[in-house]
Amino acid sequence: MPNGPEDRLDRRDFMMASFATVGASAALVANAASANAQAAATPSAGPAAGGSSATVYTGDTIEGKKVVSALDVNDLEAGRKHLLYFQGVEMPGGQHWYVSVTVAKGARPGKRVVLVSGVHGDEMSSIHTVQSVMNQLDPARMAGTVMAVTDVARPALEGMQRRWPNSGRGNDLIDMNREWPGNETGATAPSRHAGLLFNRLLRPNADVAIDFHTGTTGFDVSAFNIAGMDVAAVKAMVELYPVGQIFDNHVYPGVLHNAFVDAGIPSFCAEVGAARSLDLEMIQLFVEGTLNVLKHHGILAGPMGRTGKDVAVFVGNSAFPILATHGGLVEHLVRLNDKVTAGQKVAIQRNGFGEVVAEYTSGVAGEVTGQRSDALAEPGNPLVFILFHAAAPGGSETYPE
Ligand SMILES: [Zn+2]
Repeated sequence: MPNGPEDRLDRRDFMMASFATVGASAALVANAASANAQAAATPSAGPAAGGSSATVYTGDTIEGKKVVSALDVNDLEAGRKHLLYFQGVEMPGGQHWYVSVTVAKGARPGKRVVLVSGVHGDEMSSIHTVQSVMNQLDPARMAGTVMAVTDVARPALEGMQRRWPNSGRGNDLIDMNREWPGNETGATAPSRHAGLLFNRLLRPNADVAIDFHTGTTGFDVSAFNIAGMDVAAVKAMVELYPVGQIFDNHVYPGVLHNAFVDAGIPSFCAEVGAARSLDLEMIQLFVEGTLNVLKHHGILAGPMGRTGKDVAVFVGNSAFPILATHGGLVEHLVRLNDKVTAGQKVAIQRNGFGEVVAEYTSGVAGEVTGQRSDALAEPGNPLVFILFHAAAPGGSETYPE
């Protein structure tokens, strides 16, 4: 667990260094710091700050859905669902990126829960999880409000890729989950988009927030939640998920669920398996857990479903990365969720002749939580992540997301 910003930055530098972009990492850190400073200096920026917001309709309608540039769910009619578009940042061509917003406004007042997906553009099961929860809600029988945003990084989604194609200095790619809480006057469109969403849509309507992700293209993960378990309100929620692993760690600055936590809103990150495809069986586990969370907060009535107790959840506070030392084909010897011992061989790698050029072992005892699914790897690529419990978590672990 990180002890402060320095630890967090160290760990991100470590991760970025494995991709040989230390300079870019430093620049991102600087941007994040300046965005944070700006946000702190202008706490009332945005019409939605301080809970005294008002919904702003732009006057546009897209395919029958009204467009808003700010939303206060208190302004919406109770006892029904509302489908809206939120006006995000402008594209280079001058039109806006719009994100899909579904609000289930309960007949009676209560807590407000925000469900987010699509911060990365290749994470389909996260989107389907949120849609499945929303489709099961009947506002007439609810106390409180559930708001879903399913396509935060729209341009990334259009290419079903992780990062946002940005046209700053020629085309580059920006990871939206290093941009939060964003900056409405930031140096990139994704930073501004994050700022608009966070200030005018997400934060003002959240008493609780969950950000749904999956592994990334070429790298599969097990079903797990990332959560700071030292926060009682967060611990209570993640324990309601019947999924096998919890990564108890505060991970990086700049990720959306940490921006919520920093704003005083209990939040965590759900990781729903592999990217690009739908894992309907795994999705169902996260739907069940999320419905449990809504019951926990009194939004829904009815008995709890299965929880972490029913699946003997494994909790680790660290993720041990095993990085490729060679180029070649990687052959895994273990599977996701397998328990491994320190020193156990978990993968081998072959060159073009089929000769074994590398054998990879776990440095720790724990459970497999992520595996490279692209079979060809080059030096530095993460091949396996082992979730484990460290007595004193170091400042160097990274994690799959
Ligand atoms: Zn993600």
